[in-house]
Amino acid sequence: MKIQSTKIDAFKGKFGGEVVSPGDEAYDDARKIWNAMIDKHPALIVRCITTSDVVLAVNFARDNELLLAVRGGGHNIAGSAMCDDGIVIDLSQMKAASVDPVARRVTIEGGATLADLDASTQAHGLATPLGINSTTGVAGLTLGGGFGWLSRKHGMTIDNLESAEVVTAAGEVVRASDTEHPDLFWALRGGSGNFGVVTHFEFRLHPVGPDVLSGLIVYPIAAAKSVLRQYREFLAQAPDALSVWAVLRQAPPLPFLPEAVHGTGMIALALLYADDPKLGEPLIDPLRKFGTPLGEHVGVQPYTAWQQAFDPLLTPGARNYWKSHNFSTLQDGLFDAVIESIENLPSPQCEIFFGAIGGATTRPAPESAAYAHRDAQFVMNVHGRWQEPADDERCIGWAREFFKASAPFASGGVYVNFLTADEGDRVRSAYGPNYDRLAQVKRTYDPDNLFRMNQNIQPA
Ligand SMILES: Cc1cc2nc3c(=O)[nH]c(=O)nc-3n(C[C@H](O)[C@H](O)[C@H](O)COP(=O)(O)OP(=O)(O)OC[C@H]3O[C@@H](n4cnc5c(N)ncnc54)[C@H](O)[C@@H]3O)c2cc1C
Repeated sequence: MKIQSTKIDAFKGKFGGEVVSPGDEAYDDARKIWNAMIDKHPALIVRCITTSDVVLAVNFARDNELLLAVRGGGHNIAGSAMCDDGIVIDLSQMKAASVDPVARRVTIEGGATLADLDASTQAHGLATPLGINSTTGVAGLTLGGGFGWLSRKHGMTIDNLESAEVVTAAGEVVRASDTEHPDLFWALRGGSGNFGVVTHFEFRLHPVGPDVLSGLIVYPIAAAKSVLRQYREFLAQAPDALSVWAVLRQAPPLPFLPEAVHGTGMIALALLYADDPKLGEPLIDPLRKFGTPLGEHVGVQPYTAWQQAFDPLLTPGARNYWKSHNFSTLQDGLFDAVIESIENLPSPQCEIFFGAIGGATTRPAPESAAYAHRDAQFVMNVHGRWQEPADDERCIGWAREFFKASAPFASGGVYVNFLTADEGDRVRSAYGPNYDRLAQVKRTYDPDNLFRMNQNIQPA
C-alpha cells in the first residue's frame, strides 16, 4: 500500500521513536523475526519508545487504513509480528521493568523478553511463570496463555497477570484488570493480540531460587518407550513443584555426553524443582533409574541460567515449521508414533517435546479466562527446524506426518501460540468454547478488526 510521504512526514514530526522504511540501512534487520521462513516487507516499521508513540501509530494505521502488525519479541512461529506493505508497531525498545518486592509485583513494558523480566524479578529472588526460551517476548507469550517450568506450581502466565495497560483500536489508553474493563482483561488472558496493543503488563511474583535444582537426564532412544512409560507414571504422582519435560531428538554435542552418542537418537528428561533444592534431590532420584542414562547434568544453579539453558538450540535465523497437540493423557500408541518419527528425523535440529503442565494450570475453570485448555496435562510440539530452503518440503512433511500419527491420542485442543501460518482451520480449536465470548469482546474493542495479524477472532 502506498502511503503519501506528506502523511509519513507529519507522523514522524510527532513520533518519539525511530521510523524505518524500505531502503533504510536498518530495514532488513528490522523486518527479521525469529523464524527465517517469514520474509515480509512492511511499508513502515515504527519503533515506539512510549505509550504515546503507540497511540500515534495505532491512530495512523487506522486513519490510513493500513494493514497493522504488532511486534513484541518477534518469536511467533506464524510470523504475525510482520506484515507485507502495511505498518509494524515494533515494541522492541520498550523493555523497562519495575519491581515492588514487598507487594511482589512487577510492571514491565510490552516489548520485553523473558530474559528482561527474569533479570528484574530475580534480583529480588522472585519470578512469575514464563516460557523456556529467554529470547521469547513476554507479550505474545502472555497473550496466548504462557507456560514453563514454574507453571505446575504457579499456573499459566495469565493466571499471574494482575493488570494490563492497553492501547485500543480507537487509540484510547485503558487499564484492564478484574475491576477495570473486566471483559477486556478476560479476553487478553488467552485471546492473543486481538484486542489492542499491550504497553504494560503487571504480574504477581513468587519466591523462586535464585538457585534452583534443575538439569537434564539423557537416555538412548532405544530405551524411549520404557522411559516414556515410567515418565507417565512418575508424573501422575509428582508434586506441583516438580516439572519434567521429555524431549526426543538427536543428541547435541553436550559436554556431559560421551562423544560417541553425539548425533544419535536420545530422550532427555529436562527438570526443574521450584522449591528448596534439598527437598527436590530425593524426589528426582527415580528419574535416574528409568534405565541406564547416557549422562546427566543436574545440579543447583541460578534460575536465570536454567531459563536460558535451551537458548543455544533455539537461536533465531533457522527455518522452522511446528505442529502441536494438547494431551490429557499419554497413551502407548503415541509413544510408538513418536519413536518412529525420531528414527526418521529429516534434520539434526528437529525435535519433539512433551511439556508437562498439569498441576496449577488445570485448576481454574475453563471459562475463567480466554485460555480454555485447563484439561491439558501435556502440550506436545513437533519442531521442524532446519537451515536450507531446499529442505523445506522434507522437513515440513516430517512434522505433518507426526502430527497426523499423533492426532488419535490428542485431546483436540491446541495452544494458540504454537499454531503455524497455515492452520487457520484450527483457530477455533485454539480458543475452544470461549470463541463466541471472545468474538463479542472483539466487537466492543476492535469492531473493524484493525488487529488482525494474529490467530484472528472475527468481531461478532
Ligand atoms: C523458541 C521458542 C520457544 C517457545 N517456548 C514457549 C514456552 O516455553 N512457553 C510458551 O507458552 N510459549 C512458548 N513459545 C511460544 C511463544 O509464546 C509465542 O511464539 C509467542 O507468540 C511469542 O511472543 P512474542 O512477543 O515473542 O512474539 P511476536 O511474534 O512479537 O508476537 C506474537 C503475537 O502477539 C502479538 N503481540 C506481540 N506483542 C504484543 C503486544 N505488546 N500487544 C498486543 N499484541 C502483541 C503479535 O501481533 C503477534 O500476533 C515459544 C516460541 C519459540 C519461538
